[in-house]
Amino acid sequence: MTQHTVSRATFDDVMVPNYNPPSIIPVRGEGSRLWDQEGREYIDFAGGIAVNVLGHHHPALVKALKEQADKVWHLSNVFTNEPALQLAQMLTERTFADRVFFCNSGAEANEAAFKLVRKYAHDHFSPDKHEIIAFNQAFHGRTLFTVSVGGQAKYREGFEPVPGGITHVPYNDIEALRAAISERTCAVVMEPIQGEGGVIPANPDFARAVRELCDQHQALLVFDEVQTGVGRTGNLYAYEELGVTPDILTSAKALGGGFPIGAMLTRSEIAASFSFGTHGTTYGGNPLGCAVAKAVLEVVDTPEVLSGVKRKQQLFVDRLQAINARYHCFNEVRSAGLLIGAELSEPWQGQAAKFLAAARELGLMMLIAGPNVLRMTPSLIIPDEDIHVGMDLLEQAVATVLEVEQAG
Ligand SMILES: *Cc1c(COP(=O)(O)O)cnc(C)c1O
Repeated sequence: MTQHTVSRATFDDVMVPNYNPPSIIPVRGEGSRLWDQEGREYIDFAGGIAVNVLGHHHPALVKALKEQADKVWHLSNVFTNEPALQLAQMLTERTFADRVFFCNSGAEANEAAFKLVRKYAHDHFSPDKHEIIAFNQAFHGRTLFTVSVGGQAKYREGFEPVPGGITHVPYNDIEALRAAISERTCAVVMEPIQGEGGVIPANPDFARAVRELCDQHQALLVFDEVQTGVGRTGNLYAYEELGVTPDILTSAKALGGGFPIGAMLTRSEIAASFSFGTHGTTYGGNPLGCAVAKAVLEVVDTPEVLSGVKRKQQLFVDRLQAINARYHCFNEVRSAGLLIGAELSEPWQGQAAKFLAAARELGLMMLIAGPNVLRMTPSLIIPDEDIHVGMDLLEQAVATVLEVEQAG
């Protein structure tokens, strides 16, 4: 046999053990359905962690990728390229920003943002103005700087010494921020909705007060929209609905719809601090990634898709609440568009992974956000039928974990 067959066991033989995937290996996807090596079908509520905004194998994205594949794949930033310039035009036309820096992931977009806020303060004020304030439970990526700004100690432990000058305060607690902010603060960094932290939306009053405190202290406001951006909440970016405009916004995940790309958006006055030679990346603005991202924006940033997000959100929430009415398994269902979290009730806290495994056994892919929250970040165009089929499977999974006869 010349074909190399691979399985989950191969993972343990050849991969660094920083992940722990289940035994099944998906090999093909179409819309919001996936098939594994054995041909078993799954409903996809995970969406590649808020990435596959248009599901799998979307014709417009496949077309964009194939067309660019026949032109030019890579040039590096020694040259610019048409897809990158066109994508930057689209992003600046549709947001507060008028300058864009491209990179390849959310962590890299945040790394750029965190370096830029320091550089800007250095250029305009003094090196003393270097402190970054971020929030407990925040997630900003896994590079050393981004785990340091992130508010989950477990991602930093063992990697010390970590960069200094970073303070964490409780999310949605304006008095805590008021007490921490000073003339030494160069930036406040926040997710408009904490994703990994448990699907926790910012209170709009809090967000407005954060903006005011930043203005009073001449600190920049950075919104990490890596998870909330590109239609996830029913707006192109979540800041629009929150009514608070950041100075810097980071985007990745959904931006490429499954092709790796990240972006940092800002205003020209701030962008000027990243003068020639100050920062860079070899692959950033890669023509393949930018061509796909253009196609993503063309489809997502339309009234049909964005209004569909709010309608589908209601369907998810209604079905989750119906499950809860029968099984009393959730404390709360939280959502912002199709970023949905169901927090487990007291007896089941700490066991989110168990629900996830039970659902997968039955043919449903979901995510968790910490040990207590089931998280769903499906395609923005998931068919209603797939929502219902998936929710039937989730209900079965809940009944299995609770070891009760399924009602109804
Ligand atoms: C996923 C995520 C990141 C990190 O993105 P990567 O592409 O994994 O580096 C950063 N911030 C938020 C809010 C995220 O959800």
